[in-house]
Amino acid sequence: MKAFIVYWHPEPASFNAAMFRTACDALSAAGHEVKSSNLHAMRFDPVSSRDNFMTTKDADFLKLQVEEMHATEMHGFALEIESEISKIEWCDLMIWQFPLWWFGMPAMLKGWVDRVFAMGRVYGGHRFYDAGVFRGKRAMLSLTTGGPEAAYCKGAFNGDINAILRPIQRGMLQFVGFDVLEPHIVYGPARLTEEQRKERLGTYASRLQGIANEAPVDVGVY
Ligand code: FAD
Repeated sequence: MKAFIVYWHPEPASFNAAMFRTACDALSAAGHEVKSSNLHAMRFDPVSSRDNFMTTKDADFLKLQVEEMHATEMHGFALEIESEISKIEWCDLMIWQFPLWWFGMPAMLKGWVDRVFAMGRVYGGHRFYDAGVFRGKRAMLSLTTGGPEAAYCKGAFNGDINAILRPIQRGMLQFVGFDVLEPHIVYGPARLTEEQRKERLGTYASRLQGIANEAPVDVGVY
């Protein structure tokens, strides 16, 4: 299996960094090929602009989806975008590793989606959801929270984590055709003891050893 991990955290000694390294090591040890994008280390620019393209369809008015369609036809994506799209096209499994920020993804990861999920190449022309460009591929969110698990249940003060993740799992991953695996969530790593954190990393590594055989989940319709 070919796995592509997109990771964002600004601190190389963070728990997210440890999860990223755990995933790279566990997947490689299980015989899978691994590619990654460490967005902070790459200083990935998260802002969509004309810099997404080498080509120009309309120099007077920037309509991103029009330029994306044109760049798709003309092979005109900027090299940093082309490289990320190519990694998605290459992989069988894509993992996004990030800390939950404001009930969503940190800006650099969201900006990666804004720029890389380009109309024409990645979706469009009735190619979405079950008919999506990336059908047959699988994706998984791997994230951490500040709050404890009890705060992320239905009726608890933060509410159901599945509802919080739905815009990402349904609106981004399933939209472009991915089957979505159960998210891997480590709740409140800063609240745990060192031993508990190590145990969480071990659990993640064990899960990844068998991930090639995991079935997708229903992300729910609300
Ligand atoms: P860290 O603080 O980096 O790590 C936790 C501990 O693990 C540290 O002591 C670290 O030393 C230790 N560690 C690192 N590597 C290892 C290892 N190999 N073995 C054992 N221990 C290790 N939380 C929410 O719940 N909901 C929100 O909406 C939310 N919004 C936020 C918005 C912002 C802007 C910010 C800054 C935070 C927000 N948070 C929120 C909190 C955030 O989600 C957590 O702080 C984050 O998920 C914790 O993960 P981390 O990798 O940053 O942990």
